[in-house]
Amino acid sequence: MRHCFDPLNPLILEPFFLQIEMFTDNTIAAISTPLGEGGIGIVRLSGKGSIEIVEKIFTSPKNRALRDAGSYKLSYGYIRDPSTSEKIDEVLVAVMRSPHSYTREDIVEINCHAGLVTLRRILELAIKGGSRLAGPGEFTERAFINGRIDLSQAEAVLDLIRSKTDESRRVALEQLQGGLSEKITLLRDKLRDLCAHVEAHIDFPEDEIEISSQDEIVKSMEEVVRELGKLLKTYDEAKFFREGLSTAIVGRPNVGKSSLLNALLQRDRAIVTPLPGTTRDVIEEYLNIHGLPLRIMDTAGIRDVQNIAEKEAVKRSLQGIENADLVIAVFDESEPLRDEDFEVIEKIRDKKVIVVMNKCDLPSAADKSVVASSFRPSEVLILEISALTSAGLEELKDLIFNSSLKNWKEEKGGVLVTNMRHKIALEDAAASLGRALSGFEENRPLEIIALELRDSLDRLGEIVGAVTTDDILNSIFQNFCIGK
Ligand code: GDP
Repeated sequence: MRHCFDPLNPLILEPFFLQIEMFTDNTIAAISTPLGEGGIGIVRLSGKGSIEIVEKIFTSPKNRALRDAGSYKLSYGYIRDPSTSEKIDEVLVAVMRSPHSYTREDIVEINCHAGLVTLRRILELAIKGGSRLAGPGEFTERAFINGRIDLSQAEAVLDLIRSKTDESRRVALEQLQGGLSEKITLLRDKLRDLCAHVEAHIDFPEDEIEISSQDEIVKSMEEVVRELGKLLKTYDEAKFFREGLSTAIVGRPNVGKSSLLNALLQRDRAIVTPLPGTTRDVIEEYLNIHGLPLRIMDTAGIRDVQNIAEKEAVKRSLQGIENADLVIAVFDESEPLRDEDFEVIEKIRDKKVIVVMNKCDLPSAADKSVVASSFRPSEVLILEISALTSAGLEELKDLIFNSSLKNWKEEKGGVLVTNMRHKIALEDAAASLGRALSGFEENRPLEIIALELRDSLDRLGEIVGAVTTDDILNSIFQNFCIGK
């Protein structure tokens, strides 16, 4: 367990300052813009030595020293290789002095021309000058370690970078600006008071907790449990904005799945993201439905096949369906239903399904009521569309949005929980509090109740990073790119 900066806990300030000392000795550098050709690229340095290191490679026409440059002011000049005096690029350099910077350390950003060779040469010179290459997310990790942002805000930085729709961006920015942190801090304050109350009675056992004061403690604890419950309720829907609503379009061949996907993609394509780290690089399509990112899976037909390669594809499709938040089942309205259609229904019976009767521009030949009765009647939603003429597509989008986000409109203004790590911590905190409450009911020793309260406090502390472990930090920051 590692206690990091918690402004409310003076007991852990000392290791926090030791940590700063340890980190500031160590200046990091990285290319902070995407690698490729572009107007501007940025090499960023952070740490005590940043200004000194860049001074070794930067010259301004009027020989102005960087150390005299004002914070947040740009200095014009050249980057030179000090061993040969060769000019590498014409640049603008920004100095941001500690503690008023992203990492709270001295930061220097070299704005150069964004070409791979130029960026790499400048980075190499910065490293030769005494910095080291930053690890993934190390700038943001320093911002966290140095207390500028908490852990949930650091995670929001990544969410913001990866947001697929405007609504995802809004949710991430709200978390970055500390909406969730504030809420968690308030709840932790309440729990800390409750802990102090209960622990005081352990220290002075002769003063048993009076019934009235015990009632009040129980009431406050129940209030915190209710607040935790409210936060948890937001997760199921809010996570879709962060991760996308995973959606499988299924149906027998030729019903119009690809046509439907194309019709939806035509106007609403969000972003195509290659996901590294999977066995093969899977390209996922994202659709933007009223701000909700829909992650469309490739379900290459789920009919019976003999060929081994095809069997593998079908197996993968079935797994995709298993993991999908939503299944869009497509049928051909212009033809009588076939056995293959019923095989499809068999595979998706237990999922959340929207049934689409496609090709409604042609005369109807399929019996919709048979399709409807094949699903649980209260849960199936049926819509007639034509992927060819786009009839019914707007209704389909509304249906996807409204059926997946039943509570979204009410929750929109409040604090949202989008991250699985936060959700688990909230559940654990609520469980500890539940045990503390039963402790009172069962007249258990106050020591046990206090321990549960402390545990609940620590679980909430994990969300903002007041209590954390190296494993938690590594798993968060390794997902960042180098340079952020
Ligand atoms: P998939 O195998 O399920 O992906 O089906 P496709 O999207 O490849 O469509 C199969 C055939 O149906 C193609 O010839 C499409 O042009 C046609 N098709 C798809 N949607 C419609 C529609 O809404 N109306 C009509 N009339 N034809 C359609």
